[in-house]
Amino acid sequence: MTSNIFSQLRLDGTVVTEPAATAYAAADFGGVVGNRPLAVLRAGSITDIRTVLPVAAANDIPVVPRGHGHSGLGQAQALDGLVVDLTDMVEIHDLTEDSVTVDAGATWNSLLARTLQQGLTPRVLTDYLGTSVGGTLSAGGIGGTSHRYGVQTDNVISLDVVTADGLLRHCSPTERPDLFYAMLGGFGQCGIIVRATLPLMAAPERVRRIKIYYPTIEALITNQRNLLAEGRFDFLQGEILPTGDDWVFMLDAASNYSPPGGPDERALLSELGFTASRDKIEDLSYWEFATRLDETVTYLESTGEWHAPHPWANLLLPDAKIESFASKVMDGLEQADMGASGLILIYPISTAAFSTPLFRVPRGSTVYLVAGLRFAADTMKADEMVAANRRWYDTAVGLGGTSYPTGAIPFTSADWTRHLGTKQETLAEAKDRHDPLNLFPRRFAQ
Ligand SMILES: Cc1cc2nc3c(=O)[nH]c(=O)nc-3n(C[C@H](O)[C@H](O)[C@H](O)COP(=O)(O)OP(=O)(O)OC[C@H]3O[C@@H](n4cnc5c(N)ncnc54)[C@H](O)[C@@H]3O)c2cc1C
Repeated sequence: MTSNIFSQLRLDGTVVTEPAATAYAAADFGGVVGNRPLAVLRAGSITDIRTVLPVAAANDIPVVPRGHGHSGLGQAQALDGLVVDLTDMVEIHDLTEDSVTVDAGATWNSLLARTLQQGLTPRVLTDYLGTSVGGTLSAGGIGGTSHRYGVQTDNVISLDVVTADGLLRHCSPTERPDLFYAMLGGFGQCGIIVRATLPLMAAPERVRRIKIYYPTIEALITNQRNLLAEGRFDFLQGEILPTGDDWVFMLDAASNYSPPGGPDERALLSELGFTASRDKIEDLSYWEFATRLDETVTYLESTGEWHAPHPWANLLLPDAKIESFASKVMDGLEQADMGASGLILIYPISTAAFSTPLFRVPRGSTVYLVAGLRFAADTMKADEMVAANRRWYDTAVGLGGTSYPTGAIPFTSADWTRHLGTKQETLAEAKDRHDPLNLFPRRFAQ
């Protein structure tokens, strides 16, 4: 039946319905849930998407857009629906001296490779660049420069969106702002981003990266807070890493430069307790730094962990509560709770540059990202980890925290309603206007 509906259409891409061809769209990086779609559109053009959406709407087939499927708990899956896969739409258009227009299916990796040819870079890059532009703009896009520039969704000039009626709509802060702000961080609930225009800035040539390993979480947090206030580093992150039978707390900070000038290393290290025998300084090209996770990915592919379940928990905590949250989370935490290569990201972000309404953050001028990157050996362990994520989330909410809902924290529609808070009404209005029939499944309570 479904194959008949779509087989009549003349498309640049293809619609596949055979279970073997659609299986990948029932999976994601999280590897915890698997919702089979009826069909997958491998979109070959904007016209394909414009053609297919009204047909899906006329046949009551729900539609979910998909980038590179790095979600943690089925965010890009469509049970008995149509997945619109954008990963063949990867062209980079209109690269100027301060902006770029890019197809939503392009990876950040391919975008950066192109902009660097002109000596330019997006302001915020996620740690891993294998995600799609449309995928991170539908979520938020946090990175080590977010303390300065906000998240990726705070750095968007305009979007081209196909809405449920099959129309292509250009939107920006001044043109159809309701649609623009419903798409950024909106997890594809009001349409499909097909292109984005992003601001660019001059890319540094090189990066001096400093890793300092502290014995306590308090030492890490104190130094991170001071560094955030001072603005000493261009890039500011941190990690909680297993040491075998315990944990170590790593500051990960970097300063950009372009030769012949170089960073003042003494000033960078001042009062951070750097110890040459324990800590590390690396000097990298900007590209090497931006793609620093590639080596880890190759390692995880070799151990099989890249393809195992990843029940990740991404949370944002108020600055005033981070010590309390960290001590609750670390109390009795064992490496087995995180998996063989598991770790926790922890770093502060100033909220001054945040402006995306649907990117929900705790109150205050600083928030802490806490990302529990768990690796499960099997599905039973994965289920345990998902349950543990939910406990972390409940603890975070009790402390005024929020989730960054890309990972594997089970979220009911009531959780979405709480998550969206005062912004639910605005999203609901945009949804009523641009997707009144809920072609794109509504996540929050009606
Ligand atoms: C190894 C790894 C590292 C990561 N590091 C970071 C990080 O440093 N910072 C960070 O912020 N996140 C990070 N993430 C999370 C990641 O950025 C998000 O999960 C992102 O949404 C994934 O992009 P994707 O292309 O895989 O999207 P998908 O998983 O395919 O989709 C994500 C969501 O966006 C919707 N969507 C996708 N494309 C579109 C579109 N074109 N139009 C409308 N809606 C769309 C989907 O329906 C879904 O709801 C990481 C994830 C992994 C696996």
